[in-house]
Amino acid sequence: MESFVFCRAYHLGAPDRVFAEESAPEHYPRDRTFHLRHVRLNIRLDEREGTVEGTATLTLSPLNDGLRDIDLDGEDLHIQKVADSDRKSLDFEHDTRKLKIRLGRAYKAGTEFTLSIAYDCKPKKGMFFIRPSKTYPRHPWMIWTQGEEEDNRCWFPSYDAPNQRMTSEVIVRVNEKHFAISNGRLLKESRDARRKTRTFHWLQEVPHPNYLITIVSGEFDVVEETWEGVPLQYYVPKGRGPQVKDTFRYLPSMMTFYSKVTGLKYPYPKYAEAVVQDFTFGGMENTSLTVLYDGCLVDPHTRPDYRPEGLFAHELAHQWFGDWMTTKSWGHLWLNEGFASYFDPLWFEAEFGRDEFQWRMHEVAQGYFEEDAKSYRRPIVTHKYHDNEDMLDSHTYNKAACVLHMIRYVLGEDLWWKAIRHYVRRHAISNVETNDFKVAIEEATGRNLDRVFDQWFYKGGHPDFEVSWKYDDKTKLVALTVKQKQEVKDLTPLFLTPVEIELHVKGKARRERIEVSRPEQTFFFDASAKPDMVLFDPDNWILKKLTFEKQKDELLHQLQHADRVMPKVQACEGLGKILHDDDVLSALKAALTKDPFHAVRRAAAKALGEIRTEDAKATLMAGLKDKDSRVRRAVYEALGQFREDDEAFEILGKAWREETMYYAAGTAALAMGNSRHPRAFDTIVKGLDRPAHGNIITRNGLSALAELRDAKAIDLVKKYTRAGEPEWIRQAACNALGKLGDYLEDKRDDIRDILVLHLRDTNYRTKIGAIQGLGTMGDPKAIPELQKVQEQEPIGTFRRLARRTVKQIQEKVAERAKKVEQQAELDKLKDENKDLKARVAKLEGQVEKVLKKRR
Ligand SMILES: [Zn+2]
Repeated sequence: MESFVFCRAYHLGAPDRVFAEESAPEHYPRDRTFHLRHVRLNIRLDEREGTVEGTATLTLSPLNDGLRDIDLDGEDLHIQKVADSDRKSLDFEHDTRKLKIRLGRAYKAGTEFTLSIAYDCKPKKGMFFIRPSKTYPRHPWMIWTQGEEEDNRCWFPSYDAPNQRMTSEVIVRVNEKHFAISNGRLLKESRDARRKTRTFHWLQEVPHPNYLITIVSGEFDVVEETWEGVPLQYYVPKGRGPQVKDTFRYLPSMMTFYSKVTGLKYPYPKYAEAVVQDFTFGGMENTSLTVLYDGCLVDPHTRPDYRPEGLFAHELAHQWFGDWMTTKSWGHLWLNEGFASYFDPLWFEAEFGRDEFQWRMHEVAQGYFEEDAKSYRRPIVTHKYHDNEDMLDSHTYNKAACVLHMIRYVLGEDLWWKAIRHYVRRHAISNVETNDFKVAIEEATGRNLDRVFDQWFYKGGHPDFEVSWKYDDKTKLVALTVKQKQEVKDLTPLFLTPVEIELHVKGKARRERIEVSRPEQTFFFDASAKPDMVLFDPDNWILKKLTFEKQKDELLHQLQHADRVMPKVQACEGLGKILHDDDVLSALKAALTKDPFHAVRRAAAKALGEIRTEDAKATLMAGLKDKDSRVRRAVYEALGQFREDDEAFEILGKAWREETMYYAAGTAALAMGNSRHPRAFDTIVKGLDRPAHGNIITRNGLSALAELRDAKAIDLVKKYTRAGEPEWIRQAACNALGKLGDYLEDKRDDIRDILVLHLRDTNYRTKIGAIQGLGTMGDPKAIPELQKVQEQEPIGTFRRLARRTVKQIQEKVAERAKKVEQQAELDKLKDENKDLKARVAKLEGQVEKVLKKRR
């Protein structure tokens, strides 16, 4: 599953120690008393009423002798009747979450029997009914499900935990105008003219866990192609068929890549991608049927700023890592999500090359660092958390992907792929836990990675390196000192890791491999002359923070001669700190205009924005003509650093009006917001309603207006929070209101009232926006309302977000109080200082007088 791409802000900064909290309950895998072999759903969906009715037939086999009763999951289901294989009625007890069935006899281990459960329900989650309404008359009729993590129990009774795999069968009756897709292959389709319904019969023959069972129904444009005999089917909302070809153009390449590197050809009878309205995540990897949010559909003005390939590659990789092999419990969720998050960049590496891959891995790491710095630190593998949804964080996704990347480095290319293929073969169609992967590596390669697993999966944190080097002319030795600056405590270890060093001596590059293991170490290398540069981990294999202070000459050399992305980007960062230097400006200009890789050109633009002199501004202009919109965006961002600068503002205003690339126009707005130019408000308002991918122009425009801190924005922004506006815009508007409330203290009461109202909204994203907005505003009066969400909301994502937001507000309040205190302290010091100065002056005067007298 992928949190929607725009929304890493999901993980709001809060110093909350959710995972380390003593109060967080433990979640270990559930004991099994039976093997659930097959789930057969025969149900009718009523799209008008939002209801499900039918029968779930479960085929079970006891694991031990004497099975007399069965515990199943079913949330808010109305159970009509339970019968056994002989159609005999069975006793059952049912509360709002559990269904206990008394079998009426003792079954022996290995025997097989069925239970038929007749039920009906109106799901609050798990299955979602989308329909046209007064406020959204153009919404399509659509039904889709989201089972992960344990929400399928809200639309059928079953064993709903990941540590059980079964084949599944879905016979679903829907409105005759609609199509219904499910897992596996379509056995039969029939129509009932009298009832005006259509029935679809799907069969999933490869056992999979309950949470991957899905149904998507509605009216779609359908496009189909074939990859090596496997149908690839794209279901998109009516009218959006023309976008399919371009949007999904890389899918066959991904199928080929994953099939090749895992040693397992895509193992299901079809691969369908269904794009649905109002989806709550970016995508969900249901077996052979991925559900996607509609923002994945692109047009020629979207790439390269937004690439849906990351999402598609992630979800497709799950068909192997997640579906073919599944985490045994949510505590090991990284085995699904870390793999999908690493195999996505791996596909980019195969398709677009090393630079693109290394840059993507850098960005993946940033996601983790942000969570680690602002929210919390935890081991990747843990069983302590509040909601299952807590596990959907950047430790599970980003950090685990970075750890897999390091394992690849430690093993080397051949052994890494050998280990992956063995793991996929060895654990085919089964549940896995972290140790299974470690053992698979050992079996395939002989390498024991216990230490790597201990420090990276079972402990927290990362090394924080401080590196420096010196050259001794007499001994002809380079001394490289490496310090680990992280505070070594219970959770955070001292790291032991190999690292590559690159030395450039007299125009020649050479690599050395060192092993870092202590708080401080010095390594010596022969060098016939002083190196022009020394690089630490130039390929960026290691997940780390790095401080490596360098002189101007080395940085200039590095920017020009390093042949990897990260050293060049780091050189730009270093040069960005040097003001008033012509060599620096011309080197950054060369990088901005000539470097073949977009991220280096962007880093050069960013550095010029940091330097922020008139000359730097003039140099930046060279990047405006870049054909890559990502680079132009970096230039706009840098120009936004020139506060209230007329020349910069003119350029940004022009970009806002004229950029045809959506994200470039959106970035121009944000930059104007940053510039706080007096004419920014009117300029932004004029272009606010242009249609764009993911409504990015309006969203960024609203955010920029808030950044201008002008109270007149409030009424305007409010309008965009209302029902009838696209949901992405409503979310952005709620966020913008929160920001205005943060800046404008006297408006907080008014803004809080509006946001609290949206906490009760039925729209998913609006509600998220309202929670986020309250968090940004940092108003403690909102806490009781957020606590209601935390306690009463059925959907886990809201509970989790509300819990974090409460912590975020408490932190913000404490921070504000601290600032006030510091200011008072400062004022006091100033007064004392003044007093002291006066006294010194007086004393000096007296001394002077005495001296004069003596003369
Ligand atoms: Zn995922």
